[in-house]
Amino acid sequence: MMLKELREKVYEANMDLPKHGLVVFTWGNASELDRESGLFVIKPSGVDYEDLSPESMVVCDLDGNVVEGDLNPSSDTATHAYLYRKWGEEIGGVVHTHSSWAVSWAQAGREIPSYGTTHADYFYGPVPCMRGLTEAEIEEAYELNTGKVIVEGFTGGTGQASIDPVAVPGCLVRNHGPFSWGKDAAAAVYHAVVLEEVAKMAAHTEMLKPAVEPAPQYLLDKHYLRKHGPNAYYGQGNH
Ligand SMILES: [Zn+2]
Repeated sequence: MMLKELREKVYEANMDLPKHGLVVFTWGNASELDRESGLFVIKPSGVDYEDLSPESMVVCDLDGNVVEGDLNPSSDTATHAYLYRKWGEEIGGVVHTHSSWAVSWAQAGREIPSYGTTHADYFYGPVPCMRGLTEAEIEEAYELNTGKVIVEGFTGGTGQASIDPVAVPGCLVRNHGPFSWGKDAAAAVYHAVVLEEVAKMAAHTEMLKPAVEPAPQYLLDKHYLRKHGPNAYYGQGNH
């Protein structure tokens, strides 16, 4: 893919974040990977959304170095780069926001249980909450280590079962907020929107019934597997 085209796609993905109510001020960023060149395009740091343009998007290599662009890339670039280094075969887009309901769960240090089919259609299991970073990790390389904490959480580095990042396309980082991903930047935005909705619904569910249980596994299986996997039949068969 030409990088010009990728800049357009990443610009559109970033502009969709405030459109969907996920971002205020400049609190969010979307990127997309070009596997052929091993480069990714990301939003510039601290630029108001109304001043963004496809040309202002920044091209980086997988070490997070700027390859093309006049502006500094998002301060979270090292997190995006690390996720592509580890998962770039499976995912091609990453989004980070501070959307309120997802952040609320992250601040509570809680995973989001799967209380119903809205959740199960997109996340096969709870949306996990990663551990917080240590003081040393924050001082040493905060954004890089945020990526490492995410991958560690999915690969069972903290002793839990491993999680497939394709089946669970997002997570919370404790005391921080949501990260999501997908096959491209648009899919990562889509998952960021779903994550925020699911976080809101789960919080409301617990307000109405504090001791509520997750939905039965057979229902969650049905909903996830009819949209994903080898025997999927939902929709028009194009995803
Ligand atoms: Zn953040």
